[in-house]
Amino acid sequence: MTVLGKRNVAEEMAPGVFRIEVPTPFHVGSVNLYVLIKAEEVTLVDVGPLTEEAWQTLNEGLASIGIGLEQISQIVLTHHHVDHVGQLERVRRASGARTLAHPQAAPYVQMDEDFMVYHDQFFKELYQKSGVPEEKLIIIAKFQKLMKTFSAPSQIDGLLKHEQVLPLFPEWQVLYTPGHSQSHLSLYRAKDRVLIGGDHIIKHISSNAFIEPPRDRSRNRPLTLVQYRTALQMCADMEIDQVFSGHGERVTHHRELILSRLQKNWERTDTLRRLLASGEKTAYELTALLFPTLYEKELPLTISETIGHIDLLMILHQVEVEERDDVLYYHL
Ligand SMILES: [Zn+2]
Ligand SMILES: [Zn+2]
Repeated sequence: MTVLGKRNVAEEMAPGVFRIEVPTPFHVGSVNLYVLIKAEEVTLVDVGPLTEEAWQTLNEGLASIGIGLEQISQIVLTHHHVDHVGQLERVRRASGARTLAHPQAAPYVQMDEDFMVYHDQFFKELYQKSGVPEEKLIIIAKFQKLMKTFSAPSQIDGLLKHEQVLPLFPEWQVLYTPGHSQSHLSLYRAKDRVLIGGDHIIKHISSNAFIEPPRDRSRNRPLTLVQYRTALQMCADMEIDQVFSGHGERVTHHRELILSRLQKNWERTDTLRRLLASGEKTAYELTALLFPTLYEKELPLTISETIGHIDLLMILHQVEVEERDDVLYYHL
């Protein structure tokens, strides 16, 4: 506590855009919330997890720019992950603000019981097909426990779509940037070429394209890494001077960063092909080989990485798959 209170001061990133860095209990570290101010209107982008520390820091950050929770007119969610949305209900109650988000965020934010059953069933089947041992399926229950610990059921009042303008803040445009999450939105202000990028573009860590169940239950799962690469490419094609991310520092050379992320994908597909040269393997076996120190602790994250890269190889017909006893085996 050498710099007492220093972190709880909001930083002005661009005219009318303030960042509040809020602690989380997760491995990722702190999460960045953004406050947009225009005349009498205040928009809060993301709210942080449901912890006392996050609550305190949010309030102190707002106070440092001279506003109170009750002045927030709307909350925009970049995506439904608990580090970004956990204390939504608490902020809504204190502020009376409306929540705006992508439709895919709704079942997670509401903690819809029926959806959670479907969600667990989806992962049970995915993991079984991937060759995950039965005793490891406990991680599915862990996800719900995490949600219940660091968030509370809440509501979304308005849905946001790709390329619409942000209500009350017409100079901000909403962009759908799926891949890291099916509900992921970014906000773009053309006049000073600023992107509020959530977990889509992060400087110090490469975002994971988490596998998630499809929106339409009768469809196949979305190819999240393919989506993610498309959404990255979309941003590379845009004129952006600064990205304000959900974690870490601002990004100023977004094209270089995007190019290096896209390149990394091909390096990983090369590694997978090398691993498959010795014979067929399941996604779980490949995950253990790709992430030997991480896969046990971070299975959802690491298996998403593996499956995403297998998807790329499958699209290019560089890998074949065979199903036996409900398990998928990949080979060259
Ligand atoms: Zn996230
Ligand atoms: Zn995050």
